[in-house]
Amino acid sequence: MTTMPFIAPGATLGVMGGGQLARMFAHAAQQMGYATAVLDADRASPAGLIAHHHIRTDYLDPQGLAQLADVSAAVTIEFENVPADALARLAQRRPVAPGAAAVAVCQDRAAEKAHFVRSGVACAPHAVIADADELAAVDDKLLPGILKTARLGYDGKGQLRVTTRAQLAAAWNEFGCKVCVLEKMLPLAHEISVIVARASNREVVHLPVQQNLHRDGILAVTTVPARDIAFDVIEHAVVSARQIAATLDYVGVLCVEFFVLSDGTLVANEMAPRPHNSGHYSIDACDLSQFDLQVRAMTGAPLIAPRLHSPCVMLNLLGDLWPEHGEPDWAAVLALPGVHLHLYGKAEARRGRKMGHLTVTAATAIEADRTARIAAARLGLADW
Ligand code: ADP
Ligand code: MG
Repeated sequence: MTTMPFIAPGATLGVMGGGQLARMFAHAAQQMGYATAVLDADRASPAGLIAHHHIRTDYLDPQGLAQLADVSAAVTIEFENVPADALARLAQRRPVAPGAAAVAVCQDRAAEKAHFVRSGVACAPHAVIADADELAAVDDKLLPGILKTARLGYDGKGQLRVTTRAQLAAAWNEFGCKVCVLEKMLPLAHEISVIVARASNREVVHLPVQQNLHRDGILAVTTVPARDIAFDVIEHAVVSARQIAATLDYVGVLCVEFFVLSDGTLVANEMAPRPHNSGHYSIDACDLSQFDLQVRAMTGAPLIAPRLHSPCVMLNLLGDLWPEHGEPDWAAVLALPGVHLHLYGKAEARRGRKMGHLTVTAATAIEADRTARIAAARLGLADW
């Protein structure tokens, strides 16, 4: 992309998708004096509720896209499955960051893995299975493994663990014989992620690296600094993420998830062309958040590396926490020092649904950890 001219506060920034990521993006943009426009069909979408403009159409609706381009000086996304065609269409009229080509790579696990390899970054041994011949040709060395649909998987959905060839065939059938990636099951010691922001002038900054704990394929706890990870592994992850962004000629915020294996090896897992759940901590624990960086990247403002001012622990608040009637006992956690509660304004608490998060900041990592465990216990969240 050519270097973007600076879009000054006062202008309107558009976002495709109206979930919590768009809501936090809109908060950051509004704080800096921008107006915001959200395109999302859902009348109660978390971001639509707080944006200046809410365009309620499907992503591919020509009128909705025209309206978004009319009001917005630049457009970003909150969701990688926005059709690349919609982004290409918007890009004819306005700067779009990230661009359609980069998003298209992130929409497809096979393309994503090919991109990691192209960037010189190790990923899990895998095979793409697009037809019965490729299924039959799978190397036994990839078993036991995880079969993942190439497209539209998230939060552990669209994944099945398989041990035998018969289970693999059954799982592929269960996914409707769609294009899948079979990944070897790896011995994970830890999971980390790196969020980078890259400008159209190729400047890149990154957030302090976060350590993540998943439960049932969904992020549960993020800790920063990543206390269990050796310094050279963290450095390697940062260099890899920057490399991945550079080879995509990426503009915007990009998150790369990594596995740290039991022998210390670093393996790229997947990436998201947007702010990421594991980066929410940056709102309260850094002097610039991932959403501030998203605003800066799309407006051509200077990128400054965020500084962690407080060690922190972020807890995801899923719908499972909600009692059948009423709300969790927020007062009990708000009574703790350093607790920052974020709720996304979703009316219905469903199992596994991301309703909010809570970041605990403290003067030391030990204190943040201790308070976060108390908060978790008060809310009925499992310890870690
Ligand atoms: P999603 O899009 O649902 O986040 P991921 O590919 O990140 O999908 O997988 C979700 C989680 O499943 C990972 O965070 C990790 O805990 C586990 N997982 C995924 N792939 C592997 C693998 N090859 N080996 C071991 N665990 C894995
Ligand atoms: Mg993931």
